[in-house]
Amino acid sequence: MNVRIFGIVTVILFVGAVVNLSTTVFLSYDNPHLPLIGTQTHNTALALLNCATKRIPAIEWHKIRTCVQTLELYNVTNGHIPYIRGGSQTAAYVMPIVAPRRVFATNLYQKLNTVSKALVVIHECAHLALKVADIAYTWEENFDTLTEDEHLKNADSYRQTILNHCT
Ligand SMILES: [Zn+2]
Repeated sequence: MNVRIFGIVTVILFVGAVVNLSTTVFLSYDNPHLPLIGTQTHNTALALLNCATKRIPAIEWHKIRTCVQTLELYNVTNGHIPYIRGGSQTAAYVMPIVAPRRVFATNLYQKLNTVSKALVVIHECAHLALKVADIAYTWEENFDTLTEDEHLKNADSYRQTILNHCT
């Protein structure tokens, strides 16, 4: 009897998780979107990446460049944004496994200047192209105490490196 109840609960939770994921994906996809290539943001991101390649050649900037050249940018309305750590400060987000060439931009992104937009795109492309996570954002206290290895696995470290050396 106990086993049977446990089985039912597991199935319900599993179905719930799947529905939740597909709703999130559907809501994010259901927005206007265009390739980034040819835009001012695209050109600025490439110029920043060229600078970074010259200044810090050891990092795989070319993978981020390919991402910038091939991604589609989605303009997501507020009601369509899934729950994200960082909440109201989120300018963009990605879903690397289900949407490896898509960057989803929020209303906050639209208010940024071109250089800031390019830096956001570079952060998101670090997730997509280098498969790194968000260990710490620059405005979080523990960002300053990350080791070199952790910086290499942290998306905002790529944005901050370019901000420091190329803007
Ligand atoms: Zn991130």
